[in-house]
Amino acid sequence: MIFKKSLNILGTKYRLVLKDLDGIWGLFDWRTQKIYVDESALEDPKDFYTTLIHELGHGVFHEGSILQAGIPKEVEEILVDLYSKVVYSEVILPLLKEIPPPVPKDDTIEVCDEES
Ligand SMILES: [Zn+2]
Repeated sequence: MIFKKSLNILGTKYRLVLKDLDGIWGLFDWRTQKIYVDESALEDPKDFYTTLIHELGHGVFHEGSILQAGIPKEVEEILVDLYSKVVYSEVILPLLKEIPPPVPKDDTIEVCDEES
């Protein structure tokens, strides 16, 4: 699985942290500028990438101040979820089919035991 540990969301640097999230796939935390993805998502590229894109979507909503436009949190959730599914099927999946999955290198995976 290839991904960046440091993610630039509209000029703000976020850190991608893989850890056991105890039943949830992902979490966007603007306070600590971290995006969490459950480490079990690494077992399936679809789970990993749709979760990461979903959480990046929350980052765009936050950093782009879109919520200040009065969009309810429930609508944000639906939008980032639909968007992550489309980006996965139309962008990520074709790339995964074209490029054989690489052997993960130690420096591409971070497993964190810290509490969120
Ligand atoms: Zn969400």
